[in-house]
Amino acid sequence: MRLEDHLHLIRNVPDFPKPGILFKDITPMLAHGPALRACIDDMIDGTAGFKADVILGIESRGFLFAAPMAYATARGVILVRKPGKLPARVVKQEYALEYGTDTIEIHADAVRQGDRVVIIDDVLATGGTARAAADLVLKCGGTIAGYGFLGEIGFLEGRKRLTDAPVISLIRW
Ligand code: AMP
Repeated sequence: MRLEDHLHLIRNVPDFPKPGILFKDITPMLAHGPALRACIDDMIDGTAGFKADVILGIESRGFLFAAPMAYATARGVILVRKPGKLPARVVKQEYALEYGTDTIEIHADAVRQGDRVVIIDDVLATGGTARAAADLVLKCGGTIAGYGFLGEIGFLEGRKRLTDAPVISLIRW
């Protein structure tokens, strides 16, 4: 079966994690073997043209896609995590939220000079997180090969912050 046949497995949860947010809950899709495989296969196909050397997953749901994509294509996976999780020397990037700021981190040696990195997450919303991840890669001397998302919340226009490389998403809400 194709990904289109499984879209009902993504559940809309209103007002989570706070009022006014319609949360796209992908856990029923992750729990369904053929649906999960269709997602991974389509993300591999969709990003193949980026010619990336390495796959970057954004904590935490991005890891669920980045690692199997990396495994299936015999590339490495690198992690962008919330503060305080990575044990060795890190590079940090702060980014703006609706109210306040957040920070993400990468190991300082995770990206080699000139590496072409594809940035993977489950949902593209405002694009702030993916932009911050890309800025970490740039700080470490890598280049952005592209961005890949399972789904994209179109009206939030996250793509406008990711104009430095091609963006693919399998589902547009
Ligand atoms: P943003 O930085 O606004 O693009 O948000 C992206 C991050 O927040 C991703 O890691 C998503 O998993 C999560 N996220 C933001 N909005 C939603 C939403 N409506 N449903 C599910 N996840 C979301």
